[in-house]
Amino acid sequence: MAQNDINNIKDHAELFHQDEYQELFQAKKQFEGGHSPEEITRVAEWTKTWEYREKNFSREALTVNPAKACQPLGAILAAVGFEGTLPFVHGSQGCVAYFRSHFTRHFKEPFSAVSSSMTEDAAVFGGLNNMKEGLATSFNLYKPKMIALCTTCMAEVIGDDLQAFIRTSKDEGFVPQELPVPYAHTPSFVGSHITGYDNMMKGILSNLTAGKKKETTNGKINFIPGFETYIGNLREVKRIAETMGVNYTLLADNSDYLDSPNDGEYRMYNGGTTLEDAGDSINAEATISFQAYSTSKTREYLESDWKQKTYVSRPVGIRGTDEFLMKLSALTGKPIPKELEEERGRAVDALTDSQAWLHGKKIAMYGDPDLVIGLTQFLLELGAEPVHIVVTNSNDVFENELRALLDSSPFGAGATIWGGKDLWHLRSLLFTEPVDLLIGNSYGKYLWRDTHTPLVRIGYPIFDRHHLHRYATYGYQGAINLLNWIVNTLLDELDRNTIIPAKTDISYDLIR
Ligand code: SF4
Repeated sequence: MAQNDINNIKDHAELFHQDEYQELFQAKKQFEGGHSPEEITRVAEWTKTWEYREKNFSREALTVNPAKACQPLGAILAAVGFEGTLPFVHGSQGCVAYFRSHFTRHFKEPFSAVSSSMTEDAAVFGGLNNMKEGLATSFNLYKPKMIALCTTCMAEVIGDDLQAFIRTSKDEGFVPQELPVPYAHTPSFVGSHITGYDNMMKGILSNLTAGKKKETTNGKINFIPGFETYIGNLREVKRIAETMGVNYTLLADNSDYLDSPNDGEYRMYNGGTTLEDAGDSINAEATISFQAYSTSKTREYLESDWKQKTYVSRPVGIRGTDEFLMKLSALTGKPIPKELEEERGRAVDALTDSQAWLHGKKIAMYGDPDLVIGLTQFLLELGAEPVHIVVTNSNDVFENELRALLDSSPFGAGATIWGGKDLWHLRSLLFTEPVDLLIGNSYGKYLWRDTHTPLVRIGYPIFDRHHLHRYATYGYQGAINLLNWIVNTLLDELDRNTIIPAKTDISYDLIR
């Protein structure tokens, strides 16, 4: 091997195919005493059977590839939507490294979050000292306008009291009294990233709005995106509101933070909802949340403490966007402009163009509850038929809502909701009851590899394809994006299946 030849540096996809590595792998297998290739093939085939599926679905104490992440990951995504805000995770450093890298791999952007780096001594004696020093260092080094605190499992297991720790840190002068330090306990042994998002959003809003309630409203509508990973959606919602002339506050707007321009200047806190606007959100006319299940505690708090009306609206597909625009129009008295009506007409036209390829197609999908409801609604509009719907972070309210949606259309009749199940369950479903298309995040590529079900990447995280998160899935334009990804994946597959000369290529058509 030309080890020192800089013109011959191989990417690992090529590197490990070289003879010397292949020999090394063989020797390693022999050393480990692994099973024979025949035995591996036999077991692999067995995992595709109904017998294996029944065993797989009877497991109770083991989860394999759940379609969810942990609470603090959601909490820090909520935090970075606010101006000048540094997420601070009280607990172990490794957890925070995972959150940062997870977001960086999805958004292809730096993501700043600090940790109190608790180790063995803190686990025994409590993490107060770590918290005090961590807060002081973060404040002095990174000059945030707000530090948003959450926890990892370690801090939760030993029962560290964030409220008391923050008060002590302020009383002893580690950070100024006036620095907002909202907090949320985010134990990951319950809930998921959507619970963490909800806890943090509630924590931040209750901190920033304390004592700011006025007699009259500010005439604005609050929007809460929920655990939103499509920055195109935030921009689309803002564009729609501006097109209608609606005065709004986005709680919170992390679109610029997660999409900084490359102009030679590093901005640690790019954009974000101002703390002033967030503080005044208590005086808004109403709040619209685009996700129900990542904002349930926040909405409950807004209704009970702020005495503010809240609504859930998912602007996905034609019906979802229609309902959102009509709700916005009803709340503000602003008419729906012709520009948006024309966009609707174009989206309906696009759906009609592709409808023949989508009608009756059988679909499997997985993801967060609100994403799955939005996609189901859109697929039913297309005449596609959801078959397997896997939602690891499910609950009864969600399953009842989804069931009612499926029951509202003849195309939903064949769907099964697999609440609390994981991607290894989905693998069994795809082998025993195959479908035409799989919709989910990047982890679906392993299901694609094993089952050959074409995959449309929609959801979070998407690590292995670039720029999809920049697009909108909301609004009429978002409907066209979703349609584009779905129908063209099916057409790619059709081309692949009709490619053999003089055999299948009679249908290898130029025009689809
Ligand atoms: S589940 Fe707990 S320990 Fe694991 S990364 Fe999340 S916070 Fe850390």
